[in-house]
Amino acid sequence: MSERKPLIAGNWKMNLDHQQAIALVQKLSWALKDVSHDFDKVEVSVFPPYTDLRSVQTLIEADKLPLVLGAQDLSKFDSGAYTGEVSGAFLKKLAVKYVIVGHSERRQHHNETDEDIQAKVAACFKHNLVPVICVGETLEELEEQGAAAVPIRQLTAALAGHKEVNEFVVAYEPVWAIGTGKVATSEQAAEVAKKLRQSISEQVSIEVSSATRILYGGSVKSSNVAGFLASEEVDGVLVGGASLDIDEFTGICRFQKHVTL
Ligand code: PEP
Repeated sequence: MSERKPLIAGNWKMNLDHQQAIALVQKLSWALKDVSHDFDKVEVSVFPPYTDLRSVQTLIEADKLPLVLGAQDLSKFDSGAYTGEVSGAFLKKLAVKYVIVGHSERRQHHNETDEDIQAKVAACFKHNLVPVICVGETLEELEEQGAAAVPIRQLTAALAGHKEVNEFVVAYEPVWAIGTGKVATSEQAAEVAKKLRQSISEQVSIEVSSATRILYGGSVKSSNVAGFLASEEVDGVLVGGASLDIDEFTGICRFQKHVTL
């Protein structure tokens, strides 16, 4: 395994109100404590909906929980007449560290373009937030162009034109694997992660490419996580559905129990 600290990120999507969020975070922290999870070795982050962030932040701070707070999106704007939008500055005030940017559901349902995603990455850098940049191909694109072409094009666009590139995370999430129960093979995930790292090295620098964590996402479960994380190239997972199930998510966080490295 590389020296990059693995990140297990739970994207709750539009699930759980703020009271349910508190209950889930409490149960998750107890479950991870029960199994003596070493947060220094494997980082665990939760990405609740906006309306839950303040409650989860308060709980994390009051109980000194070692969980890291993430948000599912942010505005490309700082403030002003943008009804319904949430600024990176507001997220930073809530002690959010990570922000998912360019999730395929936002590209698909909110028509987010590569330019929007580039601007959102810039907003993250400006407000000292770490973007989790999601990239991935549809089934049609996989068949026509292979697995890596679209993810590389999307990542190149997201990283283009920044004056300074701060810390970021990449999540390779094949669109055909999200919420479908279909998973990429661990070889395919490793191969795409390797090519994405190569492209970061060409576009930014070798130092940044070797420090950047590249996650796999798409129907990850406790029963398949070990295969993805057995590869040097894959530094964690972005988990949707299974992040709402305490036993499943705890099992995913404990992936090292199943991996022989
Ligand atoms: C996701 O939402 O990023 C995701 C990977 O979802 P799921 O794990 O449910 O496929």
